[in-house]
Amino acid sequence: MPSTQKVGVQFKPGIYQIYGGLWPRCRNPVGQSGGDYIKACTQYAKKIGLPILTSHKVTSIIREKPDSGRVLGVEVDLGNGKKEYWKANKGVVAAAGGFAANPEMCAFFDPRLTKLNTTNQPGSTGEVLKAIQGINGLAVGMDYIQCIPWTAPGYKHTADIFQAIEYTVFLNKEGKRYVAEDARRDVIRDATLAQTDQTVFPVCDADGFDKNNEYYNEMNHRALENGTLFKADTIEELAKLINLPPKEMAQTIKEYNEMVDSKKDPLGRSELMLSHKIVKAPFYAGPIGMCRHHTMGGAKINTKAQVIDRDGQVIPGLYAAGEITGGIHGSNRVGGNAIADIFTFGRIAGENAATGS
Ligand SMILES: Cc1cc2nc3c(=O)[nH]c(=O)nc-3n(C[C@H](O)[C@H](O)[C@H](O)COP(=O)(O)OP(=O)(O)OC[C@H]3O[C@@H](n4cnc5c(N)ncnc54)[C@H](O)[C@@H]3O)c2cc1C
Repeated sequence: MPSTQKVGVQFKPGIYQIYGGLWPRCRNPVGQSGGDYIKACTQYAKKIGLPILTSHKVTSIIREKPDSGRVLGVEVDLGNGKKEYWKANKGVVAAAGGFAANPEMCAFFDPRLTKLNTTNQPGSTGEVLKAIQGINGLAVGMDYIQCIPWTAPGYKHTADIFQAIEYTVFLNKEGKRYVAEDARRDVIRDATLAQTDQTVFPVCDADGFDKNNEYYNEMNHRALENGTLFKADTIEELAKLINLPPKEMAQTIKEYNEMVDSKKDPLGRSELMLSHKIVKAPFYAGPIGMCRHHTMGGAKINTKAQVIDRDGQVIPGLYAAGEITGGIHGSNRVGGNAIADIFTFGRIAGENAATGS
């Protein structure tokens, strides 16, 4: 398959440091979130006559013997109560995503996350990963489940003003910063889960709102309309709207602005991310909570995207790519790196499955 640009994904100019990224090196497509990739790849699939079946479900992977031999194909639930066995020409590529939408599976590996919401679509259930384990495939890194701030408990929408992290601070219900906002996502997850009601508030000013809106404009305007995101002309007024102590919140923002001058943050925010003061009205804030977002654990693969079994051997004819794999990102996926992962290993898996090598 050609590169994402060649199939028609258009990118905005400029780079930025996404929440959970460690350096400013993120790019965004022209549209919102990941939709542009899906649209362009879907059109390309149509052009080359590749069918996309959305009501079929893989229920198991068929191997010559339960624990050994070549992978022959898959068992498919057709969605109408019938099942079929589909034989692979040369190989099967498992690309069924992670399991962050499966609360029981996540809870088994990290019980702290049981009651959290998820950012994922309902199909991120992990069942194909279980099918891989069922034919002796090795799963690794299953304890590493990434969370990000998203819809707070009891809310339907998200105050997403924390994507361009250099413009944003996170405050707890006491009106204090509690973590370096540019820290790794696992650090922010653990720090946020320790705050009162596990609910915190990103805060930015007018410049930060505009910058974040380059990425999440629609979502933020919806959140402003339905009482998830709030704006006010002073920090004290904003504090009242979100039920934070006004004096403490104003003092926190004042101290933060002084840190932008001194380039020193006791919580450890990097100099590069101490670049914008929160000074230009109106000011914005809204509640957010941690949500299960990305599962770093999954099927072990090698550099050819071949799936490895429990004895360290390649499972002939079985390839995997994307969030269904484990061990690619270690214990923490850096923000923006899933796209690199799915397209890089997706292409490698596809090429190898096509030749059966
Ligand atoms: C809200 C949100 C924002 C994100 N933003 C970014 C970002 O900015 N940058 C970044 O790099 N990453 C981002 N990510 C992470 C990234 O989108 C995912 O890691 C990536 O989409 C995983 O791709 P995938 O192809 O492996 O799986 P998916 O995109 O999850 O696709 C797997 C597909 O397989 C289907 N499936 C599952 N089980 C079966 C079955 N049994 N039979 C048939 N089909 C099945 C699923 O329904 C799904 O359609 C974001 C994720 C979310 C949820």
